[in-house]
Amino acid sequence: MIAESKQRVLIVDDQVVNISLLTEILHGVADIYFSQNGTEALELAAEILPDLILLDIEMPAMNGFAVCQQLKANSITCDIPVIFISAHTEAEFEFHSLTFGAVDYIARPFNRDICRLRVQNHLLLQQQKNAISISNAALYEEKQRLLVTLESIGDAVIATDINGSITFMNPIAESMTGWRLAEAVGKHIDIVMRLRDAGDHKPSSNPLLIALKDQRRVAMALNCELVSRDGSTSVAVEDSAAPIFDHSSKVIGGIIVFHDVSEARALALKMSYLANHDQLTGLPNRVLLHDRIHQACHIAGIAGYKVALLIIDIDSFKFINDSLGHKAGDELIRLLAARIDSILDPEQTLARVGGDEFVVIYPDIVHLELLSIFAKRLTQLMEKPFTLQDKNYSLSISVGISLFPTDAVSEEDLMRHADVALHKAKQEGRNRFCFFSDELGERMLLRHQQEQALGDAIKNHCIEVLFQPKVLLLSGEVIGAEALVRIRAADGSLISPANFIPLAEETGLIVPLGEQVLIKACYQTAKWLAQGIRIVVSVNVAAAQFSDPAFLPLVRQTLAQSRLPPELLELELTETALIGDPLLTAEILEKCRKLGIKVAIDDFGTGYSSLGYLKKFKVDVLKIDMSFVKDMLIDKSDEQIVKTIISLGQSMNIMLVAEGIETEAHRDKLLQLGCECGQGYYFSKPLPTDDFMQYLENSGTTSKT
Ligand code: C2E
Ligand code: MG
Ligand code: MG
Repeated sequence: MIAESKQRVLIVDDQVVNISLLTEILHGVADIYFSQNGTEALELAAEILPDLILLDIEMPAMNGFAVCQQLKANSITCDIPVIFISAHTEAEFEFHSLTFGAVDYIARPFNRDICRLRVQNHLLLQQQKNAISISNAALYEEKQRLLVTLESIGDAVIATDINGSITFMNPIAESMTGWRLAEAVGKHIDIVMRLRDAGDHKPSSNPLLIALKDQRRVAMALNCELVSRDGSTSVAVEDSAAPIFDHSSKVIGGIIVFHDVSEARALALKMSYLANHDQLTGLPNRVLLHDRIHQACHIAGIAGYKVALLIIDIDSFKFINDSLGHKAGDELIRLLAARIDSILDPEQTLARVGGDEFVVIYPDIVHLELLSIFAKRLTQLMEKPFTLQDKNYSLSISVGISLFPTDAVSEEDLMRHADVALHKAKQEGRNRFCFFSDELGERMLLRHQQEQALGDAIKNHCIEVLFQPKVLLLSGEVIGAEALVRIRAADGSLISPANFIPLAEETGLIVPLGEQVLIKACYQTAKWLAQGIRIVVSVNVAAAQFSDPAFLPLVRQTLAQSRLPPELLELELTETALIGDPLLTAEILEKCRKLGIKVAIDDFGTGYSSLGYLKKFKVDVLKIDMSFVKDMLIDKSDEQIVKTIISLGQSMNIMLVAEGIETEAHRDKLLQLGCECGQGYYFSKPLPTDDFMQYLENSGTTSKT
């Protein structure tokens, strides 16, 4: 910037005339100062710091050269330009003079215009020089300020040129990337600043490169992390990049500013955890519970499932708290939480919602029976005492259950209704679970009673086996019997398997139940054999029994103990039981064959009915399902199915047994189609042992053995 104040010229000449002449020539160009001797001129120059000195060479005492030398030797005056003035006109003298550091030389006598112009030019030069040094100083100051700022801020800063090659890094950037500025300069930013996605660890593109390409400010992708130089560690980073433009708006490079946000992220995570979890147990609290209920109900609503809310409350928790203190109370809460947690599936949620209150969300319920089994398991968790302060305490819990959408559709109502059910459980004597809905409660109670009854019947050997004759259709001769289980109810009536087999299969009671049927059937058949009646007994085997490793040893042992020849035992399996694990099935069937027992496929036609597995498994008997037999006389497609199964059996040399023959017409049709054996009410219903004997006698079978 050019100074507004007038410039100063110092004229040094021993001759007053010269001074006045020059003053006149330079009128208006600058403020004129003068001195007539060298020593005084030096002092004046140091004091007024003129912009230009016109210095006469020929002066007494101290000539112009000496004055110039001293001016240049003094750091205050050394930069003031000097123009020598002399009467000498020889070029050599002029050259010599200029070697003293003068910027110009003016010879006397003066050409007024040239002299004025030269002085003006030098003053202008000086003005510009001053302006440059002022702006240089300002620039330097600015640069220093920036550098200090960059080095002292807490953010990492990296600058690059237009190609993304590094030109600058501040110390924080050095420590975060592991690269020193000196090593990094000239390297591409992708080498020094390796970014990746914190989730899948895929490399992320550097925002600075996008900023350079798109010429705009770019924020870093969320969830981004910076990988250390050796690749061993990484930190979560956040921030932005921007291009740098020159005065003509051309991009000349870019800057990226970033900082470590791992602590901030960890803190945010911790805060969200604290807001959503119970401190004592680490379980979800009421806030998160509501969220989970909402989610579970939403999904169940779409899928058409049910969701149960089970509120669990420790009976007489107050007693523990009051008598043993809060520490023991806390310990009990923790122990119970762990017990409940141990029986949960991953999709179930356990939350603590109050002092001694827990809530379990049981989502995706298809069979309500499983829910009551679960609730029972919850109450059974308390059978083992809790050890508190080295003493054992036997405690119990009460559970209240509400169901979405049966009992309520909103979270609040579900919670309220579960609470109502909990109070009901408490009132009914604690240590139990109650459903909000009475109807459901009764249904579950009934089921519970049935399960109990079934368990008791098995335990007390109260199950009975009926035998349904299997006959030759043409002659009516009995060739075998199917053992069919019944349970004797308390009132003496027999309960049909349709009412307890599904329950037995769900609860696993089918295994001990099937075991008893097998034993009873084998002993009975062996007894008939001893009486001279040789018939094959068919025993139904459920899938769970068949795949049980203890099953074949049981068969072997039963045959041995009852002394029933293996060829008189036939196992009836459903297609579903066979298809489960084909390799295991093939292995078990092979063992059966080696044992000498027969295998029948029950209800054939209702399952997979695959030719492939028939061939592979080499079964002995196919039982044509009664649904086809029942309708084959009126429904062409059922007739076709029966025909197909019969020809299938004939071609594979498998014995065919038709089920559900209820009429003579059924029998005749089957005979006509080529099926020779069958069972059904037309011949006989399943019969108790004595009646079965009677039937044998009536049919004349006994006499034939
Ligand atoms: P399933 O093995 O197909 O047995 C045939 C069922 O059809 C028997 O019913 C029998 O009483 C019935 N039935 C026989 N002839 C006729 C007829 O002419 N008309 C009609 N409508 N029905 C007839 P049940 O005894 O009620 O047994 C039902 C099912 O329970 C059996 O079907 C079998 O799957 C299962 N089951 C029975 N006992 C046992 C057992 O000891 N163990 C296993 N795992 N399941 C058994
Ligand atoms: Mg059967
Ligand atoms: Mg059947």
